[in-house]
Amino acid sequence: MKLASFLLKSRGPVNLAKRIPTIARRFGITNTKIDRCLHGFVDVALEFDAKPTLAITANLLDRYPGLVQRLRNRGVEFAIHGLVHTDYSELSLGEHLDHISRAMRVFDRHEIDFVGFRCPYLRSNSYTLEAVRKLGFIWESSDVIAWDVIDPGALDINPRIAYKKLLSLYSARSSITNFSAPKLLNGIVEIPVSIPDDEAIIDRLGLDNTAEITRLWLSILDSSYRRGDIFTVQLHHERVPFLAPALRSVLQEASMLSPSVWLANLGEIADWYMRRDTFRFEVIDVDQGRYDIKVHADPDATVLLKNIDTHHLIDKWYSNYQVIRDRRFTISAAKRPVIGISKNFNPAMAEFLRGEGFIVEQVDNPESCALYLAADDDTDEVSLIDRIEGSVAPLLRFWRWPRSARSAVSITGDIDSITLLDFARRIFEV
Ligand SMILES: [Zn+2]
Repeated sequence: MKLASFLLKSRGPVNLAKRIPTIARRFGITNTKIDRCLHGFVDVALEFDAKPTLAITANLLDRYPGLVQRLRNRGVEFAIHGLVHTDYSELSLGEHLDHISRAMRVFDRHEIDFVGFRCPYLRSNSYTLEAVRKLGFIWESSDVIAWDVIDPGALDINPRIAYKKLLSLYSARSSITNFSAPKLLNGIVEIPVSIPDDEAIIDRLGLDNTAEITRLWLSILDSSYRRGDIFTVQLHHERVPFLAPALRSVLQEASMLSPSVWLANLGEIADWYMRRDTFRFEVIDVDQGRYDIKVHADPDATVLLKNIDTHHLIDKWYSNYQVIRDRRFTISAAKRPVIGISKNFNPAMAEFLRGEGFIVEQVDNPESCALYLAADDDTDEVSLIDRIEGSVAPLLRFWRWPRSARSAVSITGDIDSITLLDFARRIFEV
């Protein structure tokens, strides 16, 4: 029999055995305990008008359809978390298509709407996006951003090794060089998950007190706000009694910030990124240093200006950006407010900059545009944006989020087991 190799790989047989009493306490024999946790989770989110996204395996939905329907009726967005809780990074394209389409039939049978997919263990491979695209999903969320909020030097050897191992199992990308921002990849919106999540903090770092979790999550919120990123909170419902105060602190803090933090579920985030992708600027040269700008976008679009003069009404927004509400306006700027790139500039980075809302044009004359990037200006995402943000170049930009929000927070959780029996069965369900 093929066992769930990931569980053993990730934990080791001895550790897995040691965790049995903890697991037994967290789950119950019946679904009462977890049902209460899940509703407790939704209660906290709803206090702040935040609707959570929960990813559940199809086999669990089939076992507990009433539980899922009741949560759906309270506004929870459900997503597919696999047919069973197995490691999708080991599946072929054919197996992906087979698993996911069978899972979709289960969701349809129980009349649970879905537009998103998240891999069990957050482990995907190149077939995952291809499969969900073929099957008509609009978002995927297995990409992991590890926030730079933990000082490995301050950790003891065991937690340090355990955390490092987790980052490698998740193929996590560091926030030092990558933004935690959605990306539209051939019709699918990839929305990164934020780490450390509760599992990393409690099981790997061994920090099992609410104050520590709150501190770490608030520092992720702070960084995500400063960078305008999304903080995709990921938590496991079985720990809700313990995590609720941390979650409440994050949502409380987020709802007090100005410019605002957009609290949205992953479906809303993906929907917005689809809409945003259709937005365009038209830059018309009027005469020396004057340009007419036409904005083709819906009223929710956040249009930003930097180092630009205009007689139209603008409001101070964040850092050195202003926000403009008019959709036709004239500006004065020393150069065309676009980022010019050389012929051999990395196409993936050019696509990244377009996705970040800048006007990017391939130009022959570096002097013709506000900012020029040559092939060797290709660095990592964060350094490149830092360079643009720090320049005096006049630029226009569609911001990442709607209605002038600075950053976003999504509350998400994965449902891997409801009862102790489900947890035990996971070892054999591959
Ligand atoms: Zn899971």
